[in-house]
Amino acid sequence: MNIHEYQARELFEKYGVAAPAGKVASTPEEAEAVARQLGVSQIVVKAQVHAGGRGKGTFKNGFKGGVHVCSTPGQVREIAEKMLGQVLVTHQTGEEGRLVSKVFVAEAADIAQELYIAVLLDRASSAPVVIACTEGGVDIETVAEHTPEKIFREPVHPLIGLQPYQARLLAQKLGLAGDQAKQASKLILSLFKLFLAADCSMVEVNPLVVTKTGQVQALDAKFNFDDNALYRHPEIVALRDTAEEDPREVAASQYGLNYIGLDGNIACLVNGAGLAMATMDIIKYCGGEPANFLDVGGGASKEQVTAAFKIILGDAQVKGILVNIFGGIMQCDIIANGILAAVEETNLSIPLVVRLEGSNVELGKKIIRESGLAVISADTLIDGAEKIVAAVKAVAAAA
Ligand code: ADP
Ligand code: MG
Repeated sequence: MNIHEYQARELFEKYGVAAPAGKVASTPEEAEAVARQLGVSQIVVKAQVHAGGRGKGTFKNGFKGGVHVCSTPGQVREIAEKMLGQVLVTHQTGEEGRLVSKVFVAEAADIAQELYIAVLLDRASSAPVVIACTEGGVDIETVAEHTPEKIFREPVHPLIGLQPYQARLLAQKLGLAGDQAKQASKLILSLFKLFLAADCSMVEVNPLVVTKTGQVQALDAKFNFDDNALYRHPEIVALRDTAEEDPREVAASQYGLNYIGLDGNIACLVNGAGLAMATMDIIKYCGGEPANFLDVGGGASKEQVTAAFKIILGDAQVKGILVNIFGGIMQCDIIANGILAAVEETNLSIPLVVRLEGSNVELGKKIIRESGLAVISADTLIDGAEKIVAAVKAVAAAA
């Protein structure tokens, strides 16, 4: 799960991560009022979308830049007017871009230096790692590719956590000394405390800046939360903005399904993530293109199977469905009944291939055979993939 920058700023405040004062606004008038309240000479207006690269982005109406520095509240209103209700395209949004419905209005920092700091989970060591880099405000992936020596990694002990000496070391690696080094190590320790407390999988501050008056501040914030820990954080779940997410993925998560939309035309419904990956691979191997990844989980109910069919069919690109279920915890006859209910309820009109294996497989196959519905039965994974690819091609050829 992701959150907006203005929401991230509230978490920063709570945990003592230094950042410029600011407030969110939904209308140009509100933006102007916030600017007046701030009472500073330089104010920044920032488009709020779940994507980075806003500074260098372009709105579909031609307006350039999702981050603007203004010098009067009136100017803030004008800039907010150009951003709100408009679609911002950045290198992270894809061509379709993201609708901006809020702007963050904040005190503009007089930047002397832009740095980079992030805390993330390192899969290799199964522990958090703090990443620091002297090149801030730019694409960190580009730095990693061309000048990897500028990136420092400080592994964190999973039990004792980030130690003050490590934060001081990082500040030193960032080239900071004296009071700035003190401020930076305090900020890094606070950031780590927040990372742990909120069960984040990543917190990225790009840029972390040193201002001309010597303040160390976080100017941008990107968060990723561990979805499996969200049940512990209702206050973070409340920050979710489903308008920023794929509506199919939102619907799937409501039913406890793992769904990821893809570009192909053959949908798959599978139990187990590994089997789902294998199913997508074999569809491709047989000359088809998967329309999604969908794992209904080990104990899928009839309601979940029906919801899964509805989500799959909500994608107009889908021309065929391959169901691949291994009855382990789940019994094949229960799945078969779920599939039939879903086929009837959704008035399915595209080819459906079902491959069942495992407990009660004979009974499951019998239920499908005797249903009288146009369901194509398959025996093996490859058989199922070949059948669905052929069926989809046949329908396309006939049209
Ligand atoms: P993104 O990463 O989406 O482009 P940022 O928040 O990093 O958005 O903003 C882009 C750039 O705009 C920053 O690298 C910084 O130079 C400038 N900027 C952002 N916030 C402020 C601020 N409060 N004061 C001054 N400049 C800012
Ligand atoms: Mg940034």
